[in-house]
Amino acid sequence: MPQYDFDLFTIGAGSGGVGASRRAASYGARVGICEDSRVGGTCVIRGCIPKKLLVYGAGFAHQFEDAKGYGWTVAPPVFSWPDLIAAKDKEISRLEGIYHKLLKDSGCTLFEARGTLIDDHTIQVGSKRVTAANILIATGSYPVRPDIPGIEYSITSNEALDLPKLPRNIIIVGGGYIALEFANIFSGFGSKVTLMVRGENVLNGFDADVRVDIAKEMERNGITIHTRTHIERIESIEGGVTAYAKGGLEVSADCILYATGRKPCSAKMGLAEAGVKLHHDGSVIVDDWQHTSVPHIYAIGDVTNKLNLTPVAIAEGRALAETLFNNNPMNVSHDNVSTAVFSQPTIATVGLTEEDARKKYGPVDIYRARFKPLKNTVSGNEERTMMKIVVDRATDKVVGLHMVGVDAPEIIQSLAVAITCGATKKQFDRTMAMHPTAAEEFVTMRDKVPEPKADSAA
Ligand code: NDP
Repeated sequence: MPQYDFDLFTIGAGSGGVGASRRAASYGARVGICEDSRVGGTCVIRGCIPKKLLVYGAGFAHQFEDAKGYGWTVAPPVFSWPDLIAAKDKEISRLEGIYHKLLKDSGCTLFEARGTLIDDHTIQVGSKRVTAANILIATGSYPVRPDIPGIEYSITSNEALDLPKLPRNIIIVGGGYIALEFANIFSGFGSKVTLMVRGENVLNGFDADVRVDIAKEMERNGITIHTRTHIERIESIEGGVTAYAKGGLEVSADCILYATGRKPCSAKMGLAEAGVKLHHDGSVIVDDWQHTSVPHIYAIGDVTNKLNLTPVAIAEGRALAETLFNNNPMNVSHDNVSTAVFSQPTIATVGLTEEDARKKYGPVDIYRARFKPLKNTVSGNEERTMMKIVVDRATDKVVGLHMVGVDAPEIIQSLAVAITCGATKKQFDRTMAMHPTAAEEFVTMRDKVPEPKADSAA
């Protein structure tokens, strides 16, 4: 008789947990997995996928406009938010069904209940108690809001995906991924959007050119951006809210959305009692092999708060399953992970920012192109594209690529292969261009951006 009920028990059926569990089961492991919300987790149910569907929806606003320049007469389009939300919900339910089927077909046992550790081999799942040789914590993260008076009148991205009606105007607080994506979604649908950012610009940590260019594009699209703005309190008013910021700025809107970061879901699940150590922010401490402080308990994805992206969680989960159940030790590099912000226009990036590359390598060569895409010449759309290449001068290796423009994520995803392979600028130059595309600019840029003056470089 086996000593434990399961070889692996996963707490959390999001993308990472499901990825790990299915891979483990494919090698014959007896796998149990539990979920106290909907199977699919943040990405499928209340993150990447529903968000991207709304991004597609909002994008039509620009396409209707562009079509006019190409000779189309377009009757004023009419948009129905409830219709889009219903269509989005239907698709999310379909995907959730697929996740259920994938788990079932792979032989995993799903428990639709909350999992709590009783000890380092025992999990309470709803009313049942199960044991496992290995336990995987894949519980993800949840949105957090600052504790200011009136914060209860605000919503997070969770609620924004299901608003009963489209706000005529909305305040969005934060300057990160989620704030920018929702600002552009609501703006695309015609809401008046006010973005309130506490820093000097949006997208802290991104390349400086990306930050400047996306802020310009968003403002050109009618989004108001207040930087260095700290909201002190929110008041409920008839039909909406008023946000009061330090310095006297007051803005009223139908709705206020906080996109001020996420926290690991690690509380009240018996982790400390089982000996699993946490960082101060509640994230589970793991090494490069996803080991926690307890030898047979592992953690992946957002709950470790390392690089909070779905593909990273999936890769970590699958690597762990390979290591544990296929005698194929694998771990995941967090270098050169490409990432995208689905704003309007989109942003994508892989490798280092210019600033980080200068810190790491010293002398770097910068190539940058700003242009109006061919399609926009006839459409009259003023949106511009920015592409940037960061090269380590000593080795000629391309160490960073950044883009703001149409299809940036599709383009950068492919180029991430080249970066992962250590491609040099000479190899980029030798690559034949595909004409006429925007992507060809990445292999045709020849002129270096002049070196910054010593004081501005510093
Ligand atoms: P981010 O960490 O990206 O951004 C948080 C933003 O909120 C920052 O601008 C931050 O400012 C600001 N902020 C933090 N605390 C406060 C506060 N108390 N008052 C005002 N502003 C504040 O978090 P998100 O919530 O946007 O997203 C969470 C994570 O989810 C992302 O980091 C990303 O890993 C992932 N994600 C990825 C997506 C994608 O791949 N397309 C899409 C959505 C999410 P400051 O910069 O000054 O700290």
